[in-house]
Amino acid sequence: MTNGTAAPAAGDMGVHTDDTDQTPMVAMRDVGKVFVTERMETHALENVSLTVRRGEYLRIEGPSGCGKSTLLGVIGLIEEASGGDYRLDGVAVAGLSRTQRARLRNRLLGFVFQSFNLIADLTLAENVELPLAYRGGIDRQARRERALALLDRVGLAPRAGHYPAQLSGGQQQRAAIARALIGEPALLLADEPTGNLDAGAGGEVMDLLAECHAEGATVCVVSHDPAYAHMADRALRLDQGRVVAP
Ligand code: ADP
Repeated sequence: MTNGTAAPAAGDMGVHTDDTDQTPMVAMRDVGKVFVTERMETHALENVSLTVRRGEYLRIEGPSGCGKSTLLGVIGLIEEASGGDYRLDGVAVAGLSRTQRARLRNRLLGFVFQSFNLIADLTLAENVELPLAYRGGIDRQARRERALALLDRVGLAPRAGHYPAQLSGGQQQRAAIARALIGEPALLLADEPTGNLDAGAGGEVMDLLAECHAEGATVCVVSHDPAYAHMADRALRLDQGRVVAP
């Protein structure tokens, strides 16, 4: 394991791995999620039980509206479960304060979204180093060095000073992966990461995620593109908020 200030070595995606720890990365029992609006209640997840081992690559699939993004959001502490038990890296998530959740997210997780979610008026290097700035304790120069090393790793070193709008979708998504990796996440989460990309750019993005997995990261990817199904160790299929295939 490298520390948070070291630049990754060539070929090192910078993921956090720990082969000795047997605690599941994700352990859910009977998790539910209900969205309540003025007009209706939506049971987006019902009785979802799921264990994701360290180093596993899980694909989450199912028809539109079945709860895939909600499940990834609960795993990633973006959404709070309405019921059930969820342990992330052994930590019982219910009852944590907002600040504690944010810290846990920053320390453990990297997130890649369908729409890239880069900040338009920051350069790529500034976008990529942002999670480390939130974390604190790492000086500016070390943050920048690490951001540049990761941009190099995803093939974007010459673009470090460019703004997101100056890049193609595939390049933006690769920068978003660099940003997700900068905190050396133990768990990498991606929600339809190829949804806005053509097949070529999508393939590059999925190859990067596969490299992270090969280096030991735990990876959960929401996808409905069968072209990438073979990359995962296992698929979890949802239908109407319920697991239909383990
Ligand atoms: P998927 O990712 O499989 O397309 P989602 O997890 O986005 O599905 O949504 C599952 C269900 O929860 C859908 O019926 C959706 O309309 C509903 N839902 C998702 N987010 C919210 C929200 N913030 N408020 C109300 N309903 C929501």
